[in-house]
Amino acid sequence: MLVVGNWKMNTSHAEAIALAADVVRETEGIAGKAGVGVCPPFVWLDAVAERVRGTQVALGAQNVAAEASGAFTGETSAPMLSDLGCTYAIVGHSERRALFGETDADVAARARGAMAHGLVPIVCVGETLEERKSGDAEAVVRRQLEGSLDGLDVASDDALVIAYEPVWAIGTGETASPEQAQDMHATIRAALRQRLGDLASGVQILYGGSVKPGNAATLFAQEDVDGGLVGGASLDAAGFAAIVRAA
Ligand code: 13P
Repeated sequence: MLVVGNWKMNTSHAEAIALAADVVRETEGIAGKAGVGVCPPFVWLDAVAERVRGTQVALGAQNVAAEASGAFTGETSAPMLSDLGCTYAIVGHSERRALFGETDADVAARARGAMAHGLVPIVCVGETLEERKSGDAEAVVRRQLEGSLDGLDVASDDALVIAYEPVWAIGTGETASPEQAQDMHATIRAALRQRLGDLASGVQILYGGSVKPGNAATLFAQEDVDGGLVGGASLDAAGFAAIVRAA
């Protein structure tokens, strides 16, 4: 199990440092069973790295460049993130796809960039409400998965994490039911099995979308739900720790 907090574009410098320290304290001892990670805004990564280094809390970035260095204004590369002590990099979050035009091909290139330098990409997929209503959810997620993993050479089951985040459940307070989550996670697992063979059973598939202390346990109890990618609720250390405890 793995629970990762995606802080998105939230926190001041002081708040990020305090939140990181609180997460370390609140998850101490409970994080033996489930892995824990936080993905602060890029500008606070260094400060947060200092607070989580040597603790049970892993560090992740909210995105990563495809290339290792060069003329890519505004981008941050995998070697830079590794240098800071990052373990994970989220790629293809629905906000990146919808608001910043990132395509499956871009996401795959970023995931390859991450992997090439020892970062574990957390590859996000998920359908919109319209796509779910029209019965296309599984096809959309399968297509996103195929495109977003294109050319990725997965050597071990801990080199890749998938996050299923239905767009209609992100920041809306509306969560996928445990059955909806399990159905899609099983679809994702089957697609991974086609690509990766036996490795697929060990790849962690996280659920994201309005995960809260009150709904985490039933979601995490599903066979193919291996943890969560938590947005809003990760900004409160005690609540986040309660979610980790449910994993
Ligand atoms: P919320 O938990 O705020 O719905 O966000 C989910 C998410 O997008 C995590 O990446």
